[in-house]
Amino acid sequence: MFHLSLGTCNGCEIEVLTLMTPRFDAERWGVRFVKSPRHADVVLLTGCGTERALKRSKRVLDQIPEDKVVVAVGACACSGGIFKQGHKPPLKADIYVAGCPPKPEAMLEGIMEAVRKCCSKD
Ligand code: SF4
Repeated sequence: MFHLSLGTCNGCEIEVLTLMTPRFDAERWGVRFVKSPRHADVVLLTGCGTERALKRSKRVLDQIPEDKVVVAVGACACSGGIFKQGHKPPLKADIYVAGCPPKPEAMLEGIMEAVRKCCSKD
């Protein structure tokens, strides 16, 4: 899984980090963060999509192999959130996890849905 931030208040990032703590331990489900987008099957998007971040995000997304599953996490990534008056998502995603910020349990549910989608494509 690769985490791509599109410009956030940092609330979602803190919740994303808790996924790797012993309490939620996403790795026990086979979920691991990778440093390079080239190694990812799943992309975790956070943030409302600032102009600068959106320009760079296209280059990053192009490096991720086809058949990737995109999970938008948080109100900003789902709809632009409070920064963009909630009228449209900054990037198209396959799965949307609502909340501001969403609870780690909700993120895990969205990620597990992404894993199921990845497995069904094989
Ligand atoms: S959804 Fe809420 S917590 Fe997450 S980046 Fe937007 S404002 Fe911050």
